[in-house]
This record gives sequence, structure tokens and C-alpha cells, in this order.
Amino acid sequence: MDLNNLPYSLRVLAINISKHIDGEKITQDDLDAIINWKVGNEISFMPTRVIMQDYTGVPLLVDLAEMRSELARRGLNPEKVNPIIQSDLVIDHSIQVDYYGTSYALTLNMKKEFERNEERYKFLKWAQRSFKNLRIIPPGKGIIHQINLEYLSKVINDNNEPEIVIGTDSHTTMIGGLGILGWGVGGLEAEAVMLGEPYHSIVPEVIGVKLEGEIREGVTPTDIVLYITELLRKKGVVGKYVEFFGNSLSKLTIQDRATIANMAPEYGATVGYFPIDEQTVKYLNLTGRDGDKVKKIAMELGIFYNEKEEVKYSDVVEVNLSEIEPSIAGPKNPDERIRFGSLKIERKKKGNIIQDGDVVLAAITSCTNTSNPTVMLGAGILAKKAVELGLRSKPYVKTSLAPGSPVVVKYLKDAGLLPYLEALGFHVVGFGCTTCIGNAGPLIKEVENDIRTYGIEAYAVISGNRNFEGRINPLLKGTFLASPILVVAFAIAGRIDINYEEPIAFDPNGKPVYLRDIWPTLEEINSYMNLAMNPEYYLSQYSTIFKGDENWEKLSVTPSPIYDWPKSTYIVEPPWFKEENEKLEIKKARILLLLGDKITTDHISPAGPISPDSEAGKYLLSLGVKELNTFGARRGNHEVMIRGGFSNPKLKNYLVNKEGGYTIHFPDKREGTVYEIAMQYKKEGVPLVVVAGKQYGSGSSRDWAAKVTALLGIKAVLAESFERIHRSNLVAMGVLPIEIEDWRKLGIKGDELVSIEFNDLNPGSRVRIIFENNERKVETYGILRVNTKTEIEYIKSGGILKYVLEKMIK
Ligand code: SF4
Repeated sequence: MDLNNLPYSLRVLAINISKHIDGEKITQDDLDAIINWKVGNEISFMPTRVIMQDYTGVPLLVDLAEMRSELARRGLNPEKVNPIIQSDLVIDHSIQVDYYGTSYALTLNMKKEFERNEERYKFLKWAQRSFKNLRIIPPGKGIIHQINLEYLSKVINDNNEPEIVIGTDSHTTMIGGLGILGWGVGGLEAEAVMLGEPYHSIVPEVIGVKLEGEIREGVTPTDIVLYITELLRKKGVVGKYVEFFGNSLSKLTIQDRATIANMAPEYGATVGYFPIDEQTVKYLNLTGRDGDKVKKIAMELGIFYNEKEEVKYSDVVEVNLSEIEPSIAGPKNPDERIRFGSLKIERKKKGNIIQDGDVVLAAITSCTNTSNPTVMLGAGILAKKAVELGLRSKPYVKTSLAPGSPVVVKYLKDAGLLPYLEALGFHVVGFGCTTCIGNAGPLIKEVENDIRTYGIEAYAVISGNRNFEGRINPLLKGTFLASPILVVAFAIAGRIDINYEEPIAFDPNGKPVYLRDIWPTLEEINSYMNLAMNPEYYLSQYSTIFKGDENWEKLSVTPSPIYDWPKSTYIVEPPWFKEENEKLEIKKARILLLLGDKITTDHISPAGPISPDSEAGKYLLSLGVKELNTFGARRGNHEVMIRGGFSNPKLKNYLVNKEGGYTIHFPDKREGTVYEIAMQYKKEGVPLVVVAGKQYGSGSSRDWAAKVTALLGIKAVLAESFERIHRSNLVAMGVLPIEIEDWRKLGIKGDELVSIEFNDLNPGSRVRIIFENNERKVETYGILRVNTKTEIEYIKSGGILKYVLEKMIK
């Protein structure tokens, strides 16, 4: 097999296919398509591992449990349903920052986490005991992608194959930093792979990112990734692989690479891939894995990076690292990069304790950056210098430190830096996603009052990768992404428009303190680096990875092949096999929602707190639920999720011309919540469509965004373009993604009836769409964004779950 000149990422795919060709599911054609790099051709291959987090993983396991129940109902052996490849679920998404600013915060937040999630965790423990090839990593052990990086990944597996990891989390791409091809998929796709189906995709274009130049003093890996995110978003890499190469590749550590690979979904790429090289070997050896063996096999397989080899790419983007400057990104999107110090804010409104432009939440959070010792040590050093000058965080700022692995705390402690972070309020609040996923907990009460009473425009600063509207806290004007070092600086300054020229604070004697006075130098950071690279830390952290704390061990469950679906508001038996498969026909459908560009999965299926006034909130309260918590925790309950569909307070529907999950029923023009109106249409037997703009479904791999779409009765989404994972999730739920022209240009108003004519149902086929009412008729053509023949089968079967179950029965 001649892999020369192919990008390394494609070589990994080719090797995988060559090892799994069986002439049926995976064929020689698949291999030829890669070796001859036939962009756009459909291929099938076998991922070697599946990784999940609890928000997306619980519904996936609920589906598997329901498959078992369905087999039992049909008199068949339920234990046919088991993952057939290694599958790991890390419980990291549920912990919330209820307590902070105290050394007890971690214990108290975990206690609360178990109180809230006992029913879910019992279900997961049942799954751990009942399914084969499934490992559960209990709460408190760290964040999925950091654990994957530091421990779970082998790079080359026991069958001497390069690992290909799919994950039910969009930032699975982070593992690309370690030379592993990995990306986020919908829970539904992951289910199919776990049950032995190949993964289907199309041969991608591969954009080479050539790294040159030296990183300037004061520039962090966070600045690099924000720069790359902005650059590649402008370039347009959606649906493509991005592969890094060049003279300066070797200057980036695995943790730097992981930070950059992590944000592949933010720059729009399927993967951000760094080929295996000496840095990979060094990191594997450091973290207790056999780097030398990996090197030997990688060289034999032709996937060990060789700078001299000429690799062909679809296109090359050059990045001169020396041109990158300190940055932040926000307030609403990760690709809105702003040069640090250039943000200007008008302070019009004043409250009792805050005013416009103040930072009220500063969180060192997220696998993106807490996995990187450069920025974590840097944050500690800045804290030390600030505290020694007598500075403190502003009292109105909610501060927190939630590293993705306890290793971070070990090295910060040994470096003597943790007490300084704590002096500024950055106590450890959890080893999980916390603020990054929107589990920031409430703001300080007086701050909330000021925002509500005076309309103050206040901000959060987090070291995460996403800042979509309403994600961190709906009361905030926006969220900025920044390095952990800057997060600490913002907490001290308490305002968002800090810069290098003006003091960020004053010491107790009134002397101004500038950022340059406390900024950590690279030399200072490096002086502690040997602590962060101590192999013993990694070995001791991971020796008990599958064993939980006493809260976990206390949960009692009885292993059984079939889950008994006890009464719960968290885990409810889903309806997937109860509904008959409907005829594929869209005639005289109504437009349920008329939406703009960049509709995210957070808009479609919110992750934040459940408001008591919302449909989901009212429903839970009617069941006697006392604490509503977040949608993420309720994803095992389809009744809650459907009521939460399209209910994000920041979702603007042009049918009602306002935000907040409302729409109009036609023809009577009655306004109501999206859930209420969708249910009315359902009763009337009216099919529904959604019409939207560009980048529909960006954000996460959350399959609930597709599940609620289907449950609301939406048959097709007509959008200008779709983001990769959500598109495949829609298909997996039997909902048609159809690409159309800009609805604004087409003159669509939203009150039309919509009919779609399918002459043939083939990948990428052209369909005729008619929008009409008494006043106008608009005829247009759309492209069916169903990419493969197998996806067509999913659509015909009414979704992937029915497709897989029927295959299993046959
Ligand atoms: Fe968790 Fe944020 Fe990492 Fe996603 S990106 S896994 S939410 S920490």
C-alpha cells in the first residue's frame, strides 16, 4: 500500500480500512478512495474506541437499555445488545459551581452533585455492571478529553493499529494533539459504531497548516488557538481535516497541540491533527505509556512525522507563530478574536456594586486550557506576584478553578502556587466541566440584583472554548475566552477593558499595578515545568481511575440484563420503538421556526439552567421536582427535553420577531411556546419544517438537538448550510437536512405552506421545494444533505436506532 505523499491523517484512515476490509461492510473501494484521495467519495471504516461524557452518554446508554427492553418484548435475547469495541464514559459534565471561594468548595460541590444526580449515577452504575466493554469513570476524576489525553489513549492499540476515536463530545478532536484521529459524533452514530456498524464518512479535503517562526514572549497557547480559530474560520474549513506541519511543529508540546486540536469544532474542521513525532513519544513515556514502542510501529506503518517528506495537501495555510499576539475572543463567538487591550467599553449604567463593562465571573475552566501546564503555571505565577503586591480579586467576581485532572492540582501545590490562586478566590471547585458547559452556578446575589434592576451589561471571562449566547449565564451581556493567566488578571481588575498601558489595580498603598508588573515570564514558567512533567503524578492519579469516591461506591445497584426503568424524572424509557415509521412525504408542511444564521445546538436544545417559567420547568414542577437544575442532567428524560426544544432565551424566531422560544400557529396566528404550538400541529396532523440561515447546528455533538427536532414533529430542516455533527444527527433521527438559498433573498415570510418533492432519494440529490400561500408562491431547489447510501437507509428506516435494531434481529 503506497501511502507516500498522503497527509498523515489520511494514512491513518487507510491503515484502518486495510485492517478491516471484509468485502461487505468495508471494501476495497473504501481503501482505493483513500489511497487515491477521491475527495467526496463515501468511505466506511471501523473506529477503534468510543468515548463519551455523561450529558451525551446517558441518553446513549438509555437507548441501548431500551434496545434491550425492545428485544425482550419481542422474545429475543436482550444481551445481544453490548458495545463490541472498548467504550468509556467519563462523568464530568454534571458538577456545578454552587460553592466557591473556600477550600471546602470541592467537597461541597461533589456532595451536591451526588444529591442531584443519584438517579442518573445509579443508572450508569447499572450500565457499568450490565454491558460488556463499557467502562465508567466516576465523578471527580477529571474531564473526558484530558483523561483521554493523559491516560486512556494508546495511540497504537493492542492490535498494532493506529487508534481512531469517536466521541459523543465535539471536543474529542483534542486527541489529535497526540497523533490520534478523533472527532465528535452524534450519540446516535456512536451507538451504531458501538454495536458493530462501521462509521461512514466522505473522503475529506485536508488543509495543511504550516507552522513557522518563534512564539513571542508573553504569548500563550491560548493566544495561538484563538488566532488559528479566527484564521481558519475565515478560510472556511468546515467538513475538512486540518493537519499541522512545518518547522515549528516540534516547538509545540503535546499539551500545546492538544489546546489547538481541542478547538477544531470552533474553527469548523472535522479534526485538527498533529502527526506522531518525538514530542508524542516523550509525552507517552512521561505519562506511563510506551512511547518508544509507538514510535517503532508508527515508523513501520509510515505514520511517523518526517519533516523532509513532501506531503500533498488540498491547500496550505501558513501561520507565522511570531505574528501572534495576546488575545481574547468574544463576546458571543469563539472566532471573534480581539487583540488584548483593544476592547473599549462605554460605562453608561451603574448599579449598587457593579457598572457596565465589569467582569463578574472569572473561571479557570475547561479541558482546552487546564490541560496545559504552561498557562496553568502561568496563572499561578501571576497570582503569586499579585498577592505579594497586596492585590485581591474584586469582591463582585465569582472565581473558580476547575482543572480537567487532579494532576494539575498536584503540580500547582508542589510548585507552591495553589495558595496564591486561592488567595484570589481560585479554589478548586471540581474536576469536571463546570463553567465551561454552563454549570457556573448562580452569580453573586448583589450582582444579579444589579443586572436585573439596572440592566448592567456585565461579562464573564473563562479559559474555555465556547461562549455562545446564554451558555454561561443568561444574565450576562457576553463571555470572553482567555488564557487562565488573563482570567486571573481580569478577576483582579474586575473589568473587561484592561490593557497594558493603564494600571489593572492599585496596591494597598495606592501605587498603580500594571499587567507587565505581574505577568509570568517564560523562564519563570519553565522553572516549574519539571513538576508538571512528573510521571509519578500521572501514575498515582490514574491508578484508581475506575474506582469512585465513597459517594460513588455507596450507590447500590443490582446487575440485570434489562433495566427496570424505575420511576424517575431523570431517566425515562424513551419512545423510539413505539412509534410507527411514517411515510417519507412532506406536503403542506408549516414552518415552525424561521431562524437566522449560526443557530447552535445550545439554541436548539439548551444546556443551561431550566427556568421555572419554561415548558420544561413547569412540567418538572408539576411532578413535584424541587430543584430544576440543568437540561444537561435531564437528558435521560425525553419528556423534559422535548419541552426544552428551541426554548433558549436567546433564540430569535423571525416568525414572532422576538427571542425566547416562542412561535406562531398558522393560519390563526396564535402565539405560543414552540412546544405548545408544535403539539397543536401534531394533533392536527400537520408536518413541520424549520427554515434557517448559515451554519445551522454549530456547537456540540448533542444528539438531543436532533432528537427534539424529530419529537416536535419536524420532518426537514431547510438551511443555507449545516454544521457537520448536527447534520448527521438529524439524519440519524430521520429528519431531512436540505440546503437552500438564503430564505431572506427568496422572500420567505414564514406563513407559507411548504411542499417538498423527492424524485429520487439519493445522497446529495436535488429536491424541488414550493413555499406558497394566497399571496405568494416561491419555487426553489434544495440539495438533500444526506451524504451516503447508508444514511439514505437510516432515513428510510425512520432513524439509525430502528435501522440497527432491525439488522440485529435479522
Ligand atoms: Fe467539558 Fe468544556 Fe471540555 Fe467540553 S470543552 S469536555 S464542556 S470542559
